[in-house]
Amino acid sequence: MDNKNEMFCNMLETVIDNGCYHSIFMWDCKETVQELGSRRIFPEGVTDPFSYFLDNGYIHPDFQAVFSVFYSQLLYSTKEEGADINKLLNLDIKFSENEEFISCNMFVCYIKNDRNRVEKIIVFIRPLTDNERFEKKVVSRFNVDNGSEIFTEAISEIGELGINRVAFIQFDIDRFKHINELYGSDVGDELLKFISDSLDIICGPLQPHCRFSADIFMIVTPYETVERLNEFIRRIESHLSNFKGIDYYFSFGVYLETEFSSCKPSRRFGDCASIARKRIKGNALRNVEYFHNDMERVLFKRSEIEDDMYKAIANNEFVMYLQPKYCISTGRIIGAEALTRWIHPTKGMISPADFIPVFEQNGFIVKLDHYIWECAFRKVRDWIDNGIKPLPISVNVSRAYLREFDAVNALSTLLIKYEIPVELIELEITESIDSEGLDEIIHKFKECGFTMLMDDFGSGYSSLNMLKKTQFDVLKIDRSFLSEFMESDRGRKIISHTISMSQDIGLDIIAEGVETGEQANFLYGAGCDRAQGFYYSRPVPSDDFDKIMFDNLKNYS
Ligand code: C2E
Ligand code: MG
Ligand code: MG
Repeated sequence: MDNKNEMFCNMLETVIDNGCYHSIFMWDCKETVQELGSRRIFPEGVTDPFSYFLDNGYIHPDFQAVFSVFYSQLLYSTKEEGADINKLLNLDIKFSENEEFISCNMFVCYIKNDRNRVEKIIVFIRPLTDNERFEKKVVSRFNVDNGSEIFTEAISEIGELGINRVAFIQFDIDRFKHINELYGSDVGDELLKFISDSLDIICGPLQPHCRFSADIFMIVTPYETVERLNEFIRRIESHLSNFKGIDYYFSFGVYLETEFSSCKPSRRFGDCASIARKRIKGNALRNVEYFHNDMERVLFKRSEIEDDMYKAIANNEFVMYLQPKYCISTGRIIGAEALTRWIHPTKGMISPADFIPVFEQNGFIVKLDHYIWECAFRKVRDWIDNGIKPLPISVNVSRAYLREFDAVNALSTLLIKYEIPVELIELEITESIDSEGLDEIIHKFKECGFTMLMDDFGSGYSSLNMLKKTQFDVLKIDRSFLSEFMESDRGRKIISHTISMSQDIGLDIIAEGVETGEQANFLYGAGCDRAQGFYYSRPVPSDDFDKIMFDNLKNYS
């Protein structure tokens, strides 16, 4: 026996004598289990201790999913050279039928062969100490740890080791919101926790990972070839997909850096992975996208937009356009939606599709929203002051505003400031991910008297489930829903029924993105008499809107 081994055996003896371990056993990852302490927990004939725990229900149900990940990762490490797993797992476990579950700490030690594969393991299981139990309680609601020092430091360590090929993987759960809706947000939380715990197990010491935000996770890992990396992603996916029999899918975005050790880690890597992830969303055939340089343009724009936005608001470069809303049967204009345009001094007109998502991410949307609201209020005030019969204007209220600020207060303050009757201002809110707390806000808006429109209905995030409890007054049918579903007989039936069902439950309906007379006729036939879209008019500057409105009114006076 060489020196190292002797030391190890001595240490092992000390640990066994120590007595705080419930179980210590050695397993060859095939068929022999040897218990090292004085306690015997495995009956004769057990060849696989992990299956034994699982099959007998000795792992508390809350920990079964993560324990299974641990177990399969362990088996994987016996087949793959250099494969590693994290060695520590906290779990609630019992050792015989009649015992209670106890919170334990399981520690695994490897014995590797000369091909760097795991050949044997020694497992130590002991109850958590009081201190550990306390900590567990405190951290049981795990946190978003994006940007934590540990994460950033771990990434730089990879570079310091001289490793050049590094992949930044970002992934999220498709339509995570539906899981919350269907199973309750507790199950949603548990799923996120399961993913986080599983990543702790699957990812080795050189694979820092974190929960990036909401349901978005990030893994940074060295890679040899793209094929191997794809295998890694597939493995992650299959491990993370087994939770309580729920069906869900992931979207992965990957950014590859091939000269990592010589470049500074930057936010850009994560941004690129994120762009790739968003690109693959909605693709029915693939769910992994690699960042390539064509996507760089988007990034470029982002930094330009961020450089320019403050100046833009000070220089009044954001302009309110109005798009009229029509009554289909009479052709009369019944209102307008306020939509932002950015008239940039050198780049010309920038579309909201380019800057709204950036502002939503960096929080600037809050400033912009308030700015455009004020334009809309002022417009209504001008009409009233000039003796023109005012039409209601709807404004968009972003999620970020609702989340961070008191939108109810801000909008009611504007009503007072401009002395506008509340019927003349309508609010459009997109029903999308994380609707937590939204009900209460909508309730407050309604108490103030605002008309509430559910924007982009049918665009993918909304669901019938929402209609059950909604307090919205009006459904705004999304352009993509209209155009896609209009194409088939079946789709047309779905639109018709959506319209009649909404009316049955007392919701008004307006369709947006109406581009053809055929669409307008169809909608009217199906019972929807309001429309907004290019078929009638594009969004136009505020003065042009007045002209359109006067022309339109002439026909009705
Ligand atoms: P939205 O609120 O759903 O607005 C409707 C969008 O559909 C507008 O795009 C409008 O120009 C476009 N549209 C209307 N009719 C048609 C049509 O017949 N065909 C086609 N292809 N498109 C049509 P826009 O102005 O580019 O705005 C895009 C989105 O950006 C808006 O969607 C809204 O979510 C957001 N947005 C625009 N301005 C603001 C704002 O001031 N604040 C906030 N929070 N969001 C805004
Ligand atoms: Mg809108
Ligand atoms: Mg819309």
